[in-house]
Amino acid sequence: MFKLSDKFISNNSYTTNERKYEIYLDANESFIPLPNEIMEEMIDGFNAVSLNRYPDPMAAEVSEAFAKRYDIPLSNVVAGNGSDELISLLFATFMEPGENFATISPDFSMYEISGRNSHMNHISIEKNADFTIDVDRVITACRENDVKLLIFSNPCNPTSVGLSREKVLRLAAESGALVVADEAYMEFWDESVIDDIPDYENLLVLKTCSKAFGLAGIRLGFAIANEPLINAIKSIKSPYNVNSISQVLGKIILLHKNLTEQSIRDIISSREDVERELLELSAKTGAFKVINGVANFVTLVMDSPENFHGYLADCGIAVRLTSGLVRITAGTKEENESLLAAARKYFAKE
Ligand SMILES: *Cc1c(COP(=O)(O)O)cnc(C)c1O
Repeated sequence: MFKLSDKFISNNSYTTNERKYEIYLDANESFIPLPNEIMEEMIDGFNAVSLNRYPDPMAAEVSEAFAKRYDIPLSNVVAGNGSDELISLLFATFMEPGENFATISPDFSMYEISGRNSHMNHISIEKNADFTIDVDRVITACRENDVKLLIFSNPCNPTSVGLSREKVLRLAAESGALVVADEAYMEFWDESVIDDIPDYENLLVLKTCSKAFGLAGIRLGFAIANEPLINAIKSIKSPYNVNSISQVLGKIILLHKNLTEQSIRDIISSREDVERELLELSAKTGAFKVINGVANFVTLVMDSPENFHGYLADCGIAVRLTSGLVRITAGTKEENESLLAAARKYFAKE
């Protein structure tokens, strides 16, 4: 008789929102609509795609646009169907079943889910109580446990705390592991290690078009590393992993440096607004703490976060409850106002 694998018993799959809300501040997407100029180029790009043909297996043009934008060699880039695909490819490419991979918790839950689904052994290294990372502790844990792959987000989702470039490079130099820095939110900060890749044979960076570039819907991410690592991923990935439409739309967004940089500044400014107001409310009520962060969202620490999460849901506002933290994506002025009004009401009542 066919029997499902035991890995489904623990039911640890990623949870997504299934309810309908009026306001979505739960998935760290961009709130900025694409400018008309870009939309028009995209429509022309779409019209030129031959949908009866398979896409370019190497996604060369969009990868070139990426390499150009970040000023790195094309041979150091591979595109994926979102970074989520690349995360699972890392385990398939660089590890053998039963080997150890490490995360620094709390962090993006897909790392653990993906690693476990690939039959890897998970080592969880704790963050400090203030959600910063003790690099010495991580290095020791990696060495003691013979960790093959260390993966973390920087800035971190869900905490929004950043780890300096210098510290990431120490991890690469001393942990003995393949160090994967998931820089999904690095456009909102400035400590990328992408330019250090030539100096490290064990450093890999992940980037995505889903957050700062406002294209979560097209599922496009990139892995950046030295050529032997990139070639290994290329040899394992499925041939047509990035569809033709995403290749065309991704290329257009990446080449629009000025417009995207303006959007990034607007997103940061929105996050600063929400953060400032929440800090004020926190000082007034003492009911929660605001983590000092650097991404496009604000993360709160409080007792009974599920009550606040549920209250916001009843107000039609989706935020993310994860690792016991409440994560709120920066939104439009109106969305932020609705969120803040609901928060003020909730904490006044409490
Ligand atoms: C959102 C997010 C991703 C997902 O990227 P996709 O390219 O949309 O798959 C990856 N890593 C982190 C830390 C994220 O928050």
